[in-house]
Amino acid sequence: MENIEQDIKKVLFSEQQIAERCETLGKEITEDYAKTGRAPLVVALLRGSVPFLAELIKHIHLDIQYDFMDVTSYEGTESIGDIKIIKDLDTSVKDLDILLVEDIVDTGKTIQSVNELMLHKGAASVKVVTLLDKPSRRVVDVKPEYVGFEVENEFVVGFGMDFNQHFRCLPYVGVLKDECYQ
Ligand code: 5GP
Ligand code: MG
Repeated sequence: MENIEQDIKKVLFSEQQIAERCETLGKEITEDYAKTGRAPLVVALLRGSVPFLAELIKHIHLDIQYDFMDVTSYEGTESIGDIKIIKDLDTSVKDLDILLVEDIVDTGKTIQSVNELMLHKGAASVKVVTLLDKPSRRVVDVKPEYVGFEVENEFVVGFGMDFNQHFRCLPYVGVLKDECYQ
């Protein structure tokens, strides 16, 4: 059985750095929503955001509920509102404040489409919290309200993020050795 850690070229964000950042983000989110007097429905996008969700909600001191959605973008289409829903929410979003949880915002198409979908279904507001942001790759004009860390244009794995479904269980975010992609 292979040890997946030997495929990692470098660690970008350690387990401790991620934990500390989640604590800060959780506090900010708590304060922002406490001002409105309304706790959000936290909507996590499967599967990559699960470890981030688990770490973050320890530090959101509000009576939140959370639910999951799994979406994928339609290949070969330019239009923005086009996502395929693999798993829909069990909860109605009508009149609720939605906090979308993503692992990484890259082109921005996924969160933009889900954002539009939530508003179309009657959500009162939509905000986005993402562990990682890759602004240099953006093709649509979206800006997550809460960002853990910015990353360069580099493919990352770990803390929920995969390469061909592997590496999700690493407790840190890192970059794979070049030979892993061959
Ligand atoms: P977007 O719609 O913003 O282009 O895509 C976001 C999704 O692409 C993320 O939720 C994630 O699943 C995937 N993604 C983008 N960049 C990376 C990366 O560097 N590593 C991994 N593992 N997934 C990525
Ligand atoms: Mg994703």
